[in-house]
Amino acid sequence: MNHPAPKTIGQQYGRRSWAEPWKIKMVEPIEMVSHDVREKAMAAAGYNTFLLRSDDVYIDLLTDSGTSAMSDRQWAGLMLGDESYAGSRNFYHLEDAVQSYYGYQYVVPTHQGRGAEHLISKAVIRPGMVVPGNMYFTTTRLHQELAGGRFVDVIIDEAHDPADPHLFKGNVDLDKLQALIDDVGAEQIAYISLAGTVNMAGGQPVSMANVKALRALCDRYGIRIYLDATRMVENCYFIQQHEDGYADKPIAAILKEFCSYTDGAWMSAKKDNLVNIGGWLAVNDEEVFDLARNMVVVYEGLHTYGGMAGRDMEALAIGIEESVQDDHVCSRVGQVLYLGDLLTEWGVPIVTPIGGHAIFLDAKRFYPHIPQDQFPAQTLAAELYLDAGVRGMERGNVSAGRDPETGDHRYPALELTRLAIPRRVYTQAHMDVVAESVKAVYDKRLQTKGLRMVYEPQYLRFFQARFEPLELD
Ligand SMILES: *Cc1c(COP(=O)(O)O)cnc(C)c1O
Repeated sequence: MNHPAPKTIGQQYGRRSWAEPWKIKMVEPIEMVSHDVREKAMAAAGYNTFLLRSDDVYIDLLTDSGTSAMSDRQWAGLMLGDESYAGSRNFYHLEDAVQSYYGYQYVVPTHQGRGAEHLISKAVIRPGMVVPGNMYFTTTRLHQELAGGRFVDVIIDEAHDPADPHLFKGNVDLDKLQALIDDVGAEQIAYISLAGTVNMAGGQPVSMANVKALRALCDRYGIRIYLDATRMVENCYFIQQHEDGYADKPIAAILKEFCSYTDGAWMSAKKDNLVNIGGWLAVNDEEVFDLARNMVVVYEGLHTYGGMAGRDMEALAIGIEESVQDDHVCSRVGQVLYLGDLLTEWGVPIVTPIGGHAIFLDAKRFYPHIPQDQFPAQTLAAELYLDAGVRGMERGNVSAGRDPETGDHRYPALELTRLAIPRRVYTQAHMDVVAESVKAVYDKRLQTKGLRMVYEPQYLRFFQARFEPLELD
């Protein structure tokens, strides 16, 4: 095994290994359809796993977004929904939870993460401004571009190497950032777009030392830092496990400290916060809050519901509190590490260190004979579904889209297929089935051909693009 047992577990709870801190009260039957049905379904979906019907999927690792299982307390919270148009008590509960656990002063609810990205991008980016960040995220960068900004990647080089063992591959490269500031001028920088456990790099965390140093640099120029807090709780787990001085601190304390070095955050509550829908924006600057609160009524809903029902806000407020519990985070990430360790043992190439929410198969090493413009990661996602009904997603050439200036594919260094693990949903036995399927697909890799794109949408093409298998020769 690559990973020593997480430091806190045995000591804190007197156990030898982690176990899920819950028992199952209600089950949802799932079923694996036949190989014949899977072949027809994949062809009908244009070899894009986003276009499959979920009834045709056996183990669904498409995303960890909105797929969490809620607790009995959250379900009970739904019954406490106050559906008043204005001033719902559930909003105040949510506001209090964000203030208590993330530490920001002003909270604007939104229907999901991209609603918050839209508001913050419009509020603070002026056309022509630059937005440096630790690797792009699809919806985040699109909203920054739609607001007239230009995203510039300032993540450390190690992040672009799927095998580099750096423990904090999400870190910002302060030299790259300094060079950018020198080049364009601090007043042209809208804000730093900082993400916890960087999804596109394989779920790689940012260290506390890095965010502290980033804060110091930004303070010299009066530049604001906004955090994509979507998977920040998982980021805090890696700080607790690997950064000096944090082994004995609870996740909740680490989260609060990390956020204190930033000026605000947007959140896809569908991830860390354990709900099926929801999001929020939170800031400390009253002026930015005012702008965002003004816009939320145009694009989302009144500033005390932002597109969510009262009951959704109640489940979210409870979810925030549950999401920072050490035992929860340990078992959540523990399940991801378990799957990753199995695959590593079997020689399957994956991004290492293993991230917090997903295993990222390295499609370039998996299919060295398939060139990047024949979409190896998309091919791998399709093959996994065909093998055992396991659904993952492409995070490579298709997701990266085209350069708006040249119109060419972006050809990212990382060509990955992501297996995202929903929170509190599957058991370790499901992880065994997934690992066996990946191994089977790996064993016949040299007989596998790539794909050709036959339909390409203008925005976020990975969601709806269609493909056809290349002819066998
Ligand atoms: C999912 C996600 C978003 C967008 O949030 P939605 O709730 O899907 O709109 C933004 N940033 C990151 C890192 C995400 O994973």
